[in-house]
Amino acid sequence: MADVKKIAVIAGDGIGPEVVAEALKVLKKTEELFGYRFETEHALFGGIAIDEKGTPLPQDTLDICKKADAVLLGAVGGPKWDNNPKELRPETGLLGIRKALGLFSNIRPAVVFDCLKEASTLKPEVLEGTDLIVVRELTGGIYFGDKLRREGAGGQEAVDTCVYSVAEVERIARQAFEIARTRRKKLASVDKANVLETSRLWRETVIRVSADYPDVELEHVLVDNCAMQLLRRPSSFDVIVTENMFGDILSDEAAMLTGSIGMLSSASLGEGSFGLYEPVHGSAPDIAGLGVANPIATILSVALMFHLTFGYHDAADAIENAVKSVLDAGHRTGDIAVDKSKAISTSAMGDLIIAAMG
Ligand code: NAD
Repeated sequence: MADVKKIAVIAGDGIGPEVVAEALKVLKKTEELFGYRFETEHALFGGIAIDEKGTPLPQDTLDICKKADAVLLGAVGGPKWDNNPKELRPETGLLGIRKALGLFSNIRPAVVFDCLKEASTLKPEVLEGTDLIVVRELTGGIYFGDKLRREGAGGQEAVDTCVYSVAEVERIARQAFEIARTRRKKLASVDKANVLETSRLWRETVIRVSADYPDVELEHVLVDNCAMQLLRRPSSFDVIVTENMFGDILSDEAAMLTGSIGMLSSASLGEGSFGLYEPVHGSAPDIAGLGVANPIATILSVALMFHLTFGYHDAADAIENAVKSVLDAGHRTGDIAVDKSKAISTSAMGDLIIAAMG
């Protein structure tokens, strides 16, 4: 019998509880179909935690996450807490949880579903077959280096410093090579090595690490070229690994290839196999409580958890194929429906996906 995997479940605010409920149905169906076993423990985080415990990230929530093998998060935030002081804002908890759990990379898949190709701003023939992952370094680079304002000869000047250590580059490179190994075995390392010293260090380190992954084909792409190639030949990318700021920009560009925010999953990973999995979207206060949110981003986050944390590729493939077949059959929630009068509810979409799993 399979080991019991512990999953901390944080439903959060707004549509969070609605989409997480559908993801939990998928976990249950996976147990029935594949014999895997999950133990879930619910924890408070975000606005609801402010209301009930007086802080966005209570210590017992962190304890539950640290004991778990993975965390499934819905979304946090909403207008009720927007005017709170900084320490009492749900978003402050988001940064805190990543730091406390030692998460140093953000993983964003961009998969174009054939039946939704027409919804993208790019031509369907360019998008054909696009299935890529952006691996973004989260803890270093220009966002975290020294910053200063000073008086220069011509007036005020501002300085932001970009810093990377070999150790930081090496750990993200290894993670990206490992992910590429579970896919089509192609890694594009994105830098600006023709100009930046941190990029030259990045490139040297990635080349050195690549010696341990001879089965993965490595290419180096300059960031400006990568931004163009993502629009010109997105299907030729498999895994893209890059530093913090380039990754921030490229992951949003890649997300736009796919059309709707209700479809995008993500993961934040630390050392080992631990990860936090969540949809890219927020708590969507405008549709919260109506039962109309698209649960696919959260359900695909469960598939990502199976691929990256548990290595349950069979169950992950079953979820991804079920999502494809339900969409191919024409079922849509309101955000992706052309004819809004035919849109189905959050729970109806969840039920169709678990039925399609087998
Ligand atoms: P949002 O992603 O919540 O919503 C943007 C738009 O997309 C809205 O019109 C919404 O209805 C729609 N949408 C989002 N997810 C959807 C889904 N699953 N199905 C159908 N439609 C969906 O972004 P926002 O409005 O800028 O932010 C709302 C709140 O969420 C804010 O408090 C923000 O701070 C928070 N937020 C949280 C996270 C997180 O928890 N990681 C991420 C982003 C924003």
